[in-house]
Amino acid sequence: MKAAAFDYRSAGSVAEAVALLAEGETRVLAGGQSLGPSMNLRLARPQRLVDVKRVAELRDVAADDAVCRLGAGWTHAEIEDGAMADFSQGMLAQVAHGIAYRAVRNRGTLGGSLAHADPAADWVNTVVALGGTLVVQGPSGQRRVASEDFMLGAFTTALSGDEVLVAVELPRLGAQARWGYHKLCRKTGEFAKAIGVAVLDPGSGLARVLAGAVEGKPVTLPQTAERLREGGPAAALALLPEEAEARLAHLAPNERALRVVAVRRAIEAMAEG
Ligand SMILES: Cc1cc2nc3c(=O)[nH]c(=O)nc-3n(C[C@H](O)[C@H](O)[C@H](O)COP(=O)(O)OP(=O)(O)OC[C@H]3O[C@@H](n4cnc5c(N)ncnc54)[C@H](O)[C@@H]3O)c2cc1C
Repeated sequence: MKAAAFDYRSAGSVAEAVALLAEGETRVLAGGQSLGPSMNLRLARPQRLVDVKRVAELRDVAADDAVCRLGAGWTHAEIEDGAMADFSQGMLAQVAHGIAYRAVRNRGTLGGSLAHADPAADWVNTVVALGGTLVVQGPSGQRRVASEDFMLGAFTTALSGDEVLVAVELPRLGAQARWGYHKLCRKTGEFAKAIGVAVLDPGSGLARVLAGAVEGKPVTLPQTAERLREGGPAAALALLPEEAEARLAHLAPNERALRVVAVRRAIEAMAEG
């Protein structure tokens, strides 16, 4: 099946894209790796696409000692290849490397993945695990949304129809920081069956543990994270099953077990790293 007929516009700026979105019946086109298949299957039938690939603002990078702001238009492949200075102790490059296969990574973008909000998507879970903030622009200017509040459920976000996701702000991880990311999938390049993430940065006090690919929003495990900060990986692993049982109660036992395995492996990878 092919997409229904649509109009196409290429925006030169975020403001231009927002103005076109405000006219209605228009969707942002970034890498097209999710929107394209949705349109071909006629799950999405926008009357017009506004292509943001040429918008320079979406490729800005700004960093200070604490926070790095990455434009939404960077592709997975560019992040994998280290096109911008690393501020994550290698975490973003490794996560990017695990997304799909190279042809998808060449076109798919950070912002497109977050806006699409597939629960099993790697950036969706990574950005929440790092406690990031999303920068969104609409007709009345920019607003910032905490990553935990951005995804409302599967394929649903806090973006309104006339807003563009402009950038993501992530903490700079210090030299002492440790992280682990584990994606359970049957074949390399597949969407995850389960995701586990653990991050510990003694310099800033950041400690986060997350179970992902959970049908809806990623689920953070704050008590396990606190144990990680206070007692290290072994203490965190001892508490993990109990907290997972409570916070992942909505999952069937076998599905919950998969997330526990993914988180455990993430914590173990962090300890070994
Ligand atoms: C075969 C295959 C395997 C894949 N495997 C994985 C995987 O293992 N892990 C993974 O994480 N992902 C995977 N993906 C998804 C891939 O990462 C996509 O690139 C991503 O989901 C969408 O990014 P995009 O830039 O292509 O967005 P598009 O497809 O262009 O857009 C997706 C949605 O986001 C909206 N949008 C895009 N950019 C913005 C913006 N800046 N502001 C507001 N709205 C915006 C669009 O309107 C659309 O609704 C896979 C895709 C394919 C085709």
